[in-house]
Amino acid sequence: MTDLEIARAASIRPIEDIADAAGIPREALEFHGRYKAKIDPRLLPDDGRTPGRVVLVSAMSPTPAGEGKSTCTVGLADSLARAGQRVMIALREPSLGPVLGMKGGATGGGYSQVLPMDEINLHFTGDFHAITSANNALAALIDNHIHQGNELGIDPRRITFKRVLDVNDRALREVVIGLGGPAQGTPRQDGFDITVASEIMAVFCLARDLEDLKERLGNITFGYTYDRTPLTVRELQVEGALALLLKDAIKPNLVQTIAGTPAFVHGGPFANIAHGCNSVIATRTARRLADIVVTEAGFGADLGAEKFLDIKARAADLAPDAVVIVATIRALKMHGGVAKEDLGEQDVDALQAGTANLLRHVRNIEKFGIPPVVAVNRFATDAQEELDWLLAWCAGEGIEAAVADVWGQGGGGPGGDELAAKVLDALRRPVSFSHLYPLELSVEDKIRTIVQEIYGGDGVDFSVPALRRLKEIEANGWSGLPVCMAKTQYSFSDDVSLLGAPKGFTVHVRDLIPKTGAGFIVALTGSVMTMPGLPREPAALRMDVDGEGNAVGLF
Ligand code: ADP
Repeated sequence: MTDLEIARAASIRPIEDIADAAGIPREALEFHGRYKAKIDPRLLPDDGRTPGRVVLVSAMSPTPAGEGKSTCTVGLADSLARAGQRVMIALREPSLGPVLGMKGGATGGGYSQVLPMDEINLHFTGDFHAITSANNALAALIDNHIHQGNELGIDPRRITFKRVLDVNDRALREVVIGLGGPAQGTPRQDGFDITVASEIMAVFCLARDLEDLKERLGNITFGYTYDRTPLTVRELQVEGALALLLKDAIKPNLVQTIAGTPAFVHGGPFANIAHGCNSVIATRTARRLADIVVTEAGFGADLGAEKFLDIKARAADLAPDAVVIVATIRALKMHGGVAKEDLGEQDVDALQAGTANLLRHVRNIEKFGIPPVVAVNRFATDAQEELDWLLAWCAGEGIEAAVADVWGQGGGGPGGDELAAKVLDALRRPVSFSHLYPLELSVEDKIRTIVQEIYGGDGVDFSVPALRRLKEIEANGWSGLPVCMAKTQYSFSDDVSLLGAPKGFTVHVRDLIPKTGAGFIVALTGSVMTMPGLPREPAALRMDVDGEGNAVGLF
């Protein structure tokens, strides 16, 4: 059965039942149909309970198919609930770009999914519409300011803020606007990004509340004057209007898993140009309600977990108490040098070679002072001999690990019991969390620290434009911001062909983009897609809707 067929066959409960069980009072619920509701965190009772502990789900360097982080996040939470724990999930919202393109949804898979999966994967509660509107309102306000006399002296050639849409549309990457004469504004080169790559999305996901949202929106640098002085949204005096457009979207969305575990699905920043995890508001609200919050960070642990621990953990004032690293037999074999078409063949030697990749991720998490647990996401095609070998190898390295069959059995069944038990053990161990780098370090040294400590590289090579940008960052007083690395997720290095645990490489930083609203400096290595294109055969070709309004072909 497909993910959609499994989701459709599942029994789904009215959302108020899920809210009741999670301890959310009726007055805090804003219904979006029968199975989705927004929660107003201000209306939750303040009962002084200790905030729930956070389990972060990350992964080894993946294959292009994805190793099952969302699936394991859902399955682990269901299994923890099955073990009698009061648990909540915090996940990202899917973007229509990948949904209609190729990746598939972001609602888990098999019997470990959040429901209603079709609605979550399509328009959901309209948050992305609100974010797109706020973003494009700002773009229009900037161009209007220029048209109306340009009091701030905005240099139309140095506007860094782009328009967005939540679709993959390569034709809009570079556009010229304002053509047609003086009444149509000032002509300038512009471009579109996908909504999830916008700074508004990153701001939305890092804000603690409406006030913080407004503050961060005001801090966005949208461009520069003719003498290269940075200009912020606050100088345009429109942060209030932008926050107003987001006032309802900022409330977390409550849904349920197939097994009935409550889940917040809220916010969805890209993991390349941004930090790649759900909203701080959702994670913090979940911690008020549950004893354990299971959440996910995009890409492999070198990117997702590092950014979670150095960016989100700072913004949200939290530290995970355990990190789950999802590994698969197929990804290990790929890192052991097996070609994509041969990944189905049993090959313990390749598996062994591939463990170098997993091992580096595990040791990295230990550097942050957090206990790691490896979840081996079981595929029906995995040979028992390979799974046994892998568990024995983990035991030999002193790594806590369990095979999880949450995709096939569902976290509500016994498939995730062992993983849940290992995670509960890890939660009993002491945590001595520290960020990888102090904020006082220069941006250059922060990047070098990440490259040497997390990627295992020798050093960093900054391009001439990047060196110039480092000087600007210092001159503008932005050196104290954390760094958001934009790098391929397929290798520890910036070269996709270096699999396993490469050594002796240099990471090339092409450019640096200050995101002063989100509060980080993006370091670009390689090419980063901020407006993806559709593939030759987009997933949309398989999609349909029947006469009753049921989705067809949605994965
Ligand atoms: P990630 O979050 O790491 O990108 P997902 O959890 O979204 O990965 O899973 C990616 C795809 O792989 C989904 O279509 C999912 O159904 C499928 N998948 C995940 N785990 C398994 C498994 N154990 N067996 C078969 N398919 C799986």
